[in-house]
Amino acid sequence: MAQTIESVSSRAQTPFKNAPLIDFNKPENRQAQMEALEQVRSELGQTHPLIIGGKKITNQDTFASINPSQPDQVIGYFARATVEQVNEAVQAAATAFESWKRVPAEERAGYLFAASDLLQQRRFYYNAWMIYEVGKSWVEADADTAEAIDFMEFYAREMLRLAGEQPLVRIEGEDNQLVYIPLGVGAVIPPWNFPGAIMAGMTSASIVAGNTVVLKPASTSPMIAWQFVRILEEIGLPGGVVNFLTGSGSAIGDALIEHLQVRFIAFTGSRDVGLRINELAAKPREGQRWLKRTILEMGGKDAVVVDETADLDAAADGIVASAFGFQGQKCSAGSRAIIVEQVYDQVLQKVIEKTKQLKLGDVTQPDTYMGPVVDENALKKITDYIEIGKKEGDLVAGGGHHGPGYFIEPTVIANLGPYARIAQEEIFGPVLAVIKAKDFDDALHIANATEYGLTGSLYSRDQQRIERAKEEYFVGNLYFNRKSTGALVGVHPFGGFNMSGTDSKAGGRDYLLLFTQAKAISAKKQGPDTRREGTGE
Ligand code: NDP
Repeated sequence: MAQTIESVSSRAQTPFKNAPLIDFNKPENRQAQMEALEQVRSELGQTHPLIIGGKKITNQDTFASINPSQPDQVIGYFARATVEQVNEAVQAAATAFESWKRVPAEERAGYLFAASDLLQQRRFYYNAWMIYEVGKSWVEADADTAEAIDFMEFYAREMLRLAGEQPLVRIEGEDNQLVYIPLGVGAVIPPWNFPGAIMAGMTSASIVAGNTVVLKPASTSPMIAWQFVRILEEIGLPGGVVNFLTGSGSAIGDALIEHLQVRFIAFTGSRDVGLRINELAAKPREGQRWLKRTILEMGGKDAVVVDETADLDAAADGIVASAFGFQGQKCSAGSRAIIVEQVYDQVLQKVIEKTKQLKLGDVTQPDTYMGPVVDENALKKITDYIEIGKKEGDLVAGGGHHGPGYFIEPTVIANLGPYARIAQEEIFGPVLAVIKAKDFDDALHIANATEYGLTGSLYSRDQQRIERAKEEYFVGNLYFNRKSTGALVGVHPFGGFNMSGTDSKAGGRDYLLLFTQAKAISAKKQGPDTRREGTGE
């Protein structure tokens, strides 16, 4: 189903636009989402194989993906891949690379356009799987699907730009050219929190650049990845280009990362796993012929800063949306609110009121704002942090949790010191740490005083402070007078500083360079050599 070169070229000429979100106020859209939820309900509990070299492989040893809203409901069973199967998957990817790297960029882009179209057709269905598998609200699920579509549309166009003639300085007597060639086999290791967007984004960037991959989805969201690889299969992507390997990262991760034929690792996830991958990948093994490239996007402890000039209602709205969207399980979540003394009490009061209005509950219903956290481990970790926070500061909203799913109330802990544990460590749940700053300078200092540097936002009407924040607020994605979440592909290239990762800027024009290597090709023309000697020769 790959598209013709002509249709790809003409589509690529239409400028990229973000996919609009579904308007669930429209009855027909509500109806369609409800029907998709029904359909998915009838497909729960099936067993799904690995896909290696285009072949489906069923293992006896499986694990269950469960619905965090209702833990006795199995979303699906997935194979626990063995280390031998890791080796087979890498081998299949290496074999496929030999032909895939020769497929013209237009054709590769065509596969992404075709996958994007099919995902758009299946939009409600795909949303429904996310609602069940990771507990996203309708709106959050749809934004995730929209972002997956955006990544494919954006990277397809980007690859065509990179495949075109690159601007070089011309000299007499030589023809010079710069081409971007693929790296080889990649390990793609996404997190569960954007199980559609980040998984599809890292996979599609890899393959459109001419690489082949082993995709190992997060163990709490294998179904979303399965639905995506089904789409790739249906559009006729050649076998072996994307190999689907489920299983626990701690059991098979090392074998995948250390494999001699793995040339790069595209990872998004926690700080500790990212650091481990970085270390393992850096160590050459006997017979290894390259430096393994790592693209690592990790955690955050993002802040929303409010000064005394800000629109305080807008600031409180922004704090609450940043802290509690998808239960605070976003790397960009504004898990710290840093408010200057002069307006601290006012803003805190508004935040408490708005937090108490959030609807926590059944995400299969359209008006629910928050659902469960992803699994029992997350529940335990987050509730432990709430206990720590209660000692470090004052619990002013939420704090409770209830079953049978993993539901935690949106929780606000105020009057914390900037170095309190819950103001420093990534909790990855619906817990907001509120910190009082003496003034703007102090607030900026506190905002920068963590080991992370992913997103940050500032609510202020003071233009001089905004200019200062542009220079001094040390984050990869800085926002003014808006929430810290909700980066859009192409609009807000996304990635962070410090322990937040390699600042790879997903959804930006630099991103595909990470999945390629540039080859400069020079041919002497007939006639006298007019070239000057340069350095580095
Ligand atoms: P984890 O680090 O726990 O897992 C991420 C992926 O790594 C999963 O596929 C996981 O597999 C795998 N993995 C786990 N252990 C290993 C290992 N030893 N070797 C190789 N792979 C391994 O993160 P989460 O899935 O819990 O995601 C949440 C984290 O992701 C948060 O820290 C969040 O901030 C960060 N994140 C960062 C983003 C960014 O752009 N900077 C965006 C989104 C999330 P398995 O599930 O089987 O353990």
